[in-house]
Amino acid sequence: MTDALPPRSLARRPAAPSTVTRPVASPIQPSVVWRAEDADALDAQYEGRTEGFAYARESHPNAVALARQIDALEGTPEGSGGGLCFGSGMGAVSAVLLGLLKSGDRVIASSQLYGRSLRLMTQDLPRFGIEIAFVDPTDGAAWRKAAETPAAMVFAEVVSNPTLRVADMDAARDAATACGGLLVVDNTFTTPRGWRPFDHGADIVIHSVTKMLAGHSDATLGWAAARTPEIRAALAAAQGSIGATASPFDCWLAERGLATFALRYDRAEANAAALADHLATLPGVEAAIYPGRADHPDHNRAGDLLQGRNGTMVAFRLKGGRAQANAFIRAAADLPFAPSLGDVQTLLSHPPSSSHRALTPEGRAALGITEGFIRVSVGVEEIETLKAEFSEAVAAAAKV
Ligand SMILES: *Cc1c(COP(=O)(O)O)cnc(C)c1O
Repeated sequence: MTDALPPRSLARRPAAPSTVTRPVASPIQPSVVWRAEDADALDAQYEGRTEGFAYARESHPNAVALARQIDALEGTPEGSGGGLCFGSGMGAVSAVLLGLLKSGDRVIASSQLYGRSLRLMTQDLPRFGIEIAFVDPTDGAAWRKAAETPAAMVFAEVVSNPTLRVADMDAARDAATACGGLLVVDNTFTTPRGWRPFDHGADIVIHSVTKMLAGHSDATLGWAAARTPEIRAALAAAQGSIGATASPFDCWLAERGLATFALRYDRAEANAAALADHLATLPGVEAAIYPGRADHPDHNRAGDLLQGRNGTMVAFRLKGGRAQANAFIRAAADLPFAPSLGDVQTLLSHPPSSSHRALTPEGRAALGITEGFIRVSVGVEEIETLKAEFSEAVAAAAKV
């Protein structure tokens, strides 16, 4: 038997074939490392005189392609250098907090942020000598009061999880101006279809791309962009050090998902409005929560701020408690009980046993989160199907 190995080692990879035609679909480029012509060429690249990639942890083509698409949606300011992709939404949040804050700094933050962001602020930042002042995001006076003491950063989300309260974003922006801090907005829940933070004075915008932007529960990604190149450079440095690198394949999936973002959003939002109104008519439902409804506590602010873009999330309280919640979830067998959001299919979650399980029952009660509280990330299904499924499952819960 002959040893039929080719004369050039298979360990040496061939050059990609060159073609005069170009692919219609974006290529996936998983290369970890990039070869340069010589050391001078690498210098030129690191000094920003030429464009290129060196090592995928720092940047790679699929991350840049995705970031440019999200920049276009969010209106990332020209001249900032554009947004950056991260390995998760929390990668982006971590880079913003750890890359920009230092010991002795103070942060003013909404008390109703995403649970893991709150955890980072309460459990980790104090270890680095950073102080956090939490405010009720709907209370303009609370933002103003907190801003009487200087702060390095003001951190807000527009619509809160899971109670769907609408923050006083004018007050948050004024607080950032008054205390001299950067205004950071995590825009995951609202999406640029609902509100664009850079148009309203934000210095940094963050996304968990995992959710509505990618839209199919199959890619874990984050994105952050800054108003100035200086802030962007600090975020890029933090990303490289933390290692919150976005996978090229996930970026590719998200780029594909983003192509239908506006269509998915509009359909899911129309479904959410109709489903909230439907839930309110069901005898087993104590309250339907949606900013577009006249009985929502922030309905007027939602009207001013969101201009009718009330979002794709709905919440409701079943009459009863844990037994009714369990019965509802079991009866809604075609609706995944899975604590995420922004998927094309409707997802259910139960905050008292997931995102808000660390709170005391009293703490949850203060937010209106009873054991019968269900959060719904509304998908793009046919609305009549959704209405029938919810009617049936609510009726099943009411029988318990
Ligand atoms: C999910 C989420 C995050 C974290 O994103 P991951 O991609 O899960 O790390 C941050 N903020 C908000 C508002 C979220 O919903």
